[in-house]
Amino acid sequence: MLKELVFATNNAHKTEEVAKILAPNYKVLNLKDINCLVDIPETGNTFAENATLKSTYVFDNFKFDCFADDSGLEVEALNNEPGIYSARYSGVKDDAVNLKLLLKKMEGQTNRNARFRTVISLLQNGENYLFEGTIEGTIRTKPSGTNGFGYDPVFQPNGYEITFAEMDMDEKNKISHRALAMQKLITFLK
Ligand code: IMP
Repeated sequence: MLKELVFATNNAHKTEEVAKILAPNYKVLNLKDINCLVDIPETGNTFAENATLKSTYVFDNFKFDCFADDSGLEVEALNNEPGIYSARYSGVKDDAVNLKLLLKKMEGQTNRNARFRTVISLLQNGENYLFEGTIEGTIRTKPSGTNGFGYDPVFQPNGYEITFAEMDMDEKNKISHRALAMQKLITFLK
């Protein structure tokens, strides 16, 4: 029997990508497909808690097995800030403003180590399974590149001389924190 699985996202492109990989074993739906139009609160203290809040919300209210992801940037010299606050580090949801604040806080810092992390929560048959993806790198002193989003212009993954924003999208999507977590989920589901 074809199993239905909700990806708790509003991003149709992300859903389509995963749906293709999981066909024909699963039918992947997104929040719009199940008519879930609320902004699910992310009030947890960790990526895992926030991902689980989203998957649980969908299960409790719509009775679908579901997976949800939560990501962010952790900078060593800033006690792993911005972390779960990555999207609104400065108080507003504005990538350029948040990136500027990060660079300001990093002025004079010699330890530039950072990582992007993603945690996915899969609620299936009443169990919560967590999958994590991490990519280590460093924070540049100036932004470089125009691809991607968020902190991509200042994040240089280890082993590369370019930032995520200078990298081809396809290449980033092979090595990113999100891709690594997603691969673990897909291996589990298959
Ligand atoms: P989300 O949980 O995937 O929505 O990510 C939350 C926030 O983390 C985003 O708004 C970005 O600020 C930051 N972030 C997550 N993934 C990336 C990435 O791949 N590149 C740059 N910034 C990211």
